Amino acid sequence: MIRQQNYDRPRQRMVQEQIIDRGITSQRVIEAMRQVFRHDFAGEALRTHAYKDKSLPIGEGQTISQPYIVAKMTELLDLKGHERVLEIGTGCGYQTAVLSCLCKRVYSIERIESLHSLAKKNLRKGRHSNVMLKCGDGLLGWEEYAPFDAIIVTAGGFASDLWLDQLVEGGVLLLPEGEGKSHRLVRRQKQNDEVVEEYFDDCTFVPLLSGVNG
Ligand code: SAH
Repeated sequence: MIRQQNYDRPRQRMVQEQIIDRGITSQRVIEAMRQVFRHDFAGEALRTHAYKDKSLPIGEGQTISQPYIVAKMTELLDLKGHERVLEIGTGCGYQTAVLSCLCKRVYSIERIESLHSLAKKNLRKGRHSNVMLKCGDGLLGWEEYAPFDAIIVTAGGFASDLWLDQLVEGGVLLLPEGEGKSHRLVRRQKQNDEVVEEYFDDCTFVPLLSGVNG
């Protein structure tokens, strides 16, 4: 019998050193980061790196975000449990899995077919059943299921006008905004006829692109 490596200790250490010690305070987010097996999303070759403080390649030139950034973005959504959340950029599905522990349903769109399939497999394995995935262009949002309580974008660029239209009143849009590789997390909240805007961490994401790459 092949002995399965146990990743419990590296995961607990990641949560302590990269999440709690760096200022994430939401107990719900911390618990979700403890629960989701990042090593199941990282791919065979990179399993042993899964709990390191860095982003990792997932194929097709894309990456799974660094654990701290996943936790930070999730914390900024301030999910209570009843929300329907749209994610743009499923990638391997790790951020999707974390969100699925914290809200009612996650709708996630990925433009690269092979990653969409990978995420489907990973999320099924982790039994994240409150997730709906689609291969498509996230810049268009997901009209069929709108309006959403929150929209989170996990690729860097500039917001599509359609996203705010697909949010409920009081809903939140969170994205890494900026040119090239220089992004900054921005949170926009729809309030009455206004949009309240707040800026957070500097970061670098893979680019938000248009169209589908089958
Ligand atoms: N949340 C992911 C991060 C993946 S990287 C994870 O945890 O693994 C960002 C992803 O956004 C890439 O897979 C990229 O293909 C995708 N992407 C970029 N532009 C997109 C668009 N317009 N619509 C949908 N997905 C997009």
